This record gives sequence, structure tokens and C-alpha cells, in this order.
Amino acid sequence: MKVLVINCGSSSLKYQLFDMNDKSVLAKGLVERIGLEEGTLKHTPKGMEKVVISEKIPNHKVAVKMMLDALLDENYGVLKSISEISAVGHRVVHGGEKFSGSVKITDEVMAVLKECVDLAPLHNPPNIIGIEATKELLPDVPMVGVFDTAFHQTMPEYAYIYGVPYELYKKYGVRRYGFHGTSHRFVSAEAAKMLNKPIEELKLVTLHLGNGSSISAVKNGKSIDNSMGFTPLEGILMGTRCGNIDPAIVPFIMEKEGLSLDEISNYLNKKCGVYGVSGVSSDFRDLEEAAINGNPRAQLALQIFAYQAKKFIGSYAAAMNGLDAIVFTGGIGENSYVVRNMICEDMEYFGIKIDEEKNKVRGKQADISSEDAKTKVLVIPTNEELMIALDTVALV
Ligand code: ADP
Repeated sequence: MKVLVINCGSSSLKYQLFDMNDKSVLAKGLVERIGLEEGTLKHTPKGMEKVVISEKIPNHKVAVKMMLDALLDENYGVLKSISEISAVGHRVVHGGEKFSGSVKITDEVMAVLKECVDLAPLHNPPNIIGIEATKELLPDVPMVGVFDTAFHQTMPEYAYIYGVPYELYKKYGVRRYGFHGTSHRFVSAEAAKMLNKPIEELKLVTLHLGNGSSISAVKNGKSIDNSMGFTPLEGILMGTRCGNIDPAIVPFIMEKEGLSLDEISNYLNKKCGVYGVSGVSSDFRDLEEAAINGNPRAQLALQIFAYQAKKFIGSYAAAMNGLDAIVFTGGIGENSYVVRNMICEDMEYFGIKIDEEKNKVRGKQADISSEDAKTKVLVIPTNEELMIALDTVALV
């Protein structure tokens, strides 16, 4: 059985085609700069060189068509016929409170997805466009939606209600939703396998650290809290997002800097985080290099990032009344031994101690805790696409 996984953004479309018999990736690719002057398709078939095609890609339907053509191409394609695709799994950012798991996409589901646009105006519209474009070109193939928010629907009310009038929750859905749920779910399940314990008996803190970062408390296999909130802006400071700040700062800088509503939203999402603090970059490789070369603001940005992550681990250990393991994932979590080291240092009180040699690992599963550490520290590369493919198979 072959399953196509699609992650559609406002100007990009990422895809992976899985052979679910052995869970291998037959081809993967990225269509970028949709709607701009010149777009590109980068297509990598298994065991072959990457193919790059540059041309104008006016809309998402054309992007989907290009992807299908690449998958069927006689030179670099991996399919003989489109009918080999048994199902398509779509990543959807926001499922609101309506979806606590993945669902088969029907007309009713599409209607609900459209209702959720209000909650995720940046993310859900391109997801919907991607689903509609795929449906037009593959009308008979069953499709599944997998939501970033779904895994966090098990959070208790006291974890998701904010200290604002309760009516705002009832009227507008103002509450914590949490994000990166597919990644937190995937790495929690992998952690249980690595620890050789049933997930129902584990208290985990999973740290998905990438351009966007979120941290989750996963108790007995269920998410009970996540650092991202109503939107993916909350939590620890990120590449360019501010994370938790005093809300009073928002009207203050709007007035001082003369910013409109759109401008402040853009500012908090794009100009802040480690980029804003360091003035160097949002990319942790650049930050680490600048910090090593003595740039004090790059050093400060890394310290803030590690300190805030550390505080989440402590607060979630308190929330769960214990901690069996912490899990690092995402581009930074999987690759940066510097950041892992900074987060884990001076955490012996929580039973956390990492082995510096083992911590040198990059991009593969590893237990990096010291022999005598009570709490395990694991590195687990995430695989949201595989999780989406598995959910898709289960539902169709
Ligand atoms: P996204 O949230 O866009 O999916 P990723 O999970 O790919 O992002 O993470 C991107 C981040 O990972 C970038 O800040 C990048 O610098 C960081 N990263 C990737 N490789 C390394 C590395 N070897 N050392 C430090 N940081 C890294």
C-alpha cells in the first residue's frame, strides 16, 4: 500500500510517498515559491539524485499537479500509475476542539475545517487549499486529515483555560490548544519503546525544538500540557517568535513604535525570539558560531532559550508529580549538543545528568543520560510524515 503525505503551506508544499509495507520513503519533495515569479520543485526519488525544476507555479493546484507528474515521470518517477496511491494524508495545523484524533476527510470535515480558519488564519487556509487541490486531481482517493492540535485535546480544563473572562472561551474559543502534537505523539511512543516500558506508565517531557519550539508534558501517554497556546506564539522564545512575554508589553510597544494590529502581529512572530535578542540570526547554527566567537548577545539568546526550556521541564515535572525521561527532538533538539547540554546542566535535583560523550550524537535515536542518572535523557528524531501515513492507513 502506498500513501502520499502532504504538508501544504501558504507558498510551499512538502510531500513524501511511503510504501507502507516496509514504511520506506519512495520519494519526497518540496514545491516552493508558489504564486511568485519563479517557483521550484525539488524531487528526490529513493536512491537517486535530487531533480530540480524551476518554472512559474501560479497556484496550489499546479503545485499538486507538478508533484504528481514528478511521481509518475518515466525517468525519475516512482509510480507507473496514479492508481497506485491508495490514500493521501494531509497535515492540518488547527483542528480546534472538534478533532481529538485524525479523521477521514468528508464534506462535513471540510466545513468544520473552514470554521477553524478564524483560529489559525495563517496556517489553515493553505492546508484547506492543499486538500481541495489534491481532491480535484485525485477525486477517488480517500484522504485523511491529521491535526497538530489533536494530541493535546486531552489537556485538563485547568491547563487550557486562561485567566481571562470565561465567556471569551465560549464565544471565540480562546484557550490553549497546543501544537506540534503529531511530533510529541510520535516521540512519546518511540520513547516508550526505547525505555522498554508501557507508555501508560511513563511521565515524559518532550521538547520539540526547531524554528518553532514547543514543550509537552505527556503523562501515561496523554498530553496534559503544552507550552504553545491559543497560537504557536506562546511558550519559550523561538527563532523569530517572542514566546511568553508580559501581555502589557504589546500595547506599550504598539504605542511607542506606532504599530498597527497587523504590524504588531508580524513583529512578535518575525522580529523577536533569538533573532531579536541576538541581532545575529534565527538559525541556531549561526547563533552557536557567533557565541563561540564571543558575541555576547548570541550567548545571551542561547542562555535565555536554555533557561526557559529548563523552567518548563521543572514545571511539568511538578504538574506530573514525577519525571521518567525527557526527549529532545526537532532540528535543534536532534542536532545541537550545545543546547541540550545547556538545558540539562544543573538539573541533578530532577535526576537529570547527561553523558558528554553520548551527547555528541546527532540526528539519531540515543539515550544520552549518564549511567547513574535517575531520569533518562533521550534524543529521538521526529517523523511527523510517518505518523501521518500510519494514521492514514489506520483510517482508510
Ligand atoms: P521547523 O520548525 O521549521 O521544522 P526544524 O525542526 O528543521 O525547523 O529546525 C530548524 C532549526 O534547527 C534551525 O534553527 C537550525 O539552526 C537548527 N539546527 C539544524 N541543525 C543544527 C545543528 N547541527 N546544530 C544546531 N542547530 C541546528
